[in-house]
Amino acid sequence: MASSVTEETECKVENSAVDEVTACNSVSFDVTVQDAQEKEKVRHCFSEPWVDSDVILVVENEKFHVHRQILSLNSPVFEAMFKSQFKEATANEIPLPGKKPNEVLDFLLKVYGPHYTKTEVHITMGNVEHLLHLSDEYQVTEPIFKPCVKFLDEEPKTKENVMRILSLAELFNLEKVRQDCNDVLKGMSLETLSDTVQFQNIDRDKLQHFLTQRIEFLEGLLKEVYPQFIGLAECCMWLWGEANKGLAELCPIHYSDEKPATNLVDRFKECHKCRYILERIATRTCPKRRRGRFLDYSDTYGTYYTSRHRFDDKVSTIINKFSQVMTQSVKK
Ligand SMILES: [Zn+2]
Repeated sequence: MASSVTEETECKVENSAVDEVTACNSVSFDVTVQDAQEKEKVRHCFSEPWVDSDVILVVENEKFHVHRQILSLNSPVFEAMFKSQFKEATANEIPLPGKKPNEVLDFLLKVYGPHYTKTEVHITMGNVEHLLHLSDEYQVTEPIFKPCVKFLDEEPKTKENVMRILSLAELFNLEKVRQDCNDVLKGMSLETLSDTVQFQNIDRDKLQHFLTQRIEFLEGLLKEVYPQFIGLAECCMWLWGEANKGLAELCPIHYSDEKPATNLVDRFKECHKCRYILERIATRTCPKRRRGRFLDYSDTYGTYYTSRHRFDDKVSTIINKFSQVMTQSVKK
């Protein structure tokens, strides 16, 4: 049976189906073009009876000539339908109300596969939604539903597609895909998020969810960065203190050998000399090597490490603000 189906369909498909199937997919969201296309039906291998096709699916005004056996083998829902006592079991024409012809065509091409139809339907963002709906409804799990899930799993999530993928993940309960989308949304700046989510079109609960998860993500990140950042500043001061004994001269209270150094943040609150030391270190730690004593402040030079990263005299102000933010978040 396999080879005869292939021969029969080959010529028909070569004439029309491939290009039209593609065209059909690409306009599936454009209502005007779709309306215009409906007047001119798409020709494909299911348009006419072929190789013992024994049942017709009627979708809107289009007929799809298909095989009970192939549908039954792939779909327990069709199998039950054909075995049942209902009129579908014997009817030659089975209407599928509420479906779109181009979507059913994609579905059938996937069910039959390229071996019989000579048409390869790749899963794309343009067809994954209706393929998921139809394969879920007719329980075509292995050939369609699972590949669709795999596609959504592997498709890079961007601000253009993440909301659509997320809504599909929620609809079909795809936990990993949903988690990936949430991770992408969490990592987005408020500006990108507002482009993506379109705050004005979204209900309050969902908006609150996105903003809350973004804030939680940022607060979590701050908690990780804060001790590292203060630790780095402290490490810088210690290294410079070891290399330049002049530091101890500048602030003997906090740099005496007998007394352990106070916490940097507290030291900064009470000691302008310590702040001054870090600012001087920051403005002088360019990759260029310098000779001379630490206390020689005669000139400062570029404090940017790269075009975007810097370590300059703002560092002590930032430590202050940073500690305020962190203290407030702890108090809550
Ligand atoms: Zn000090």
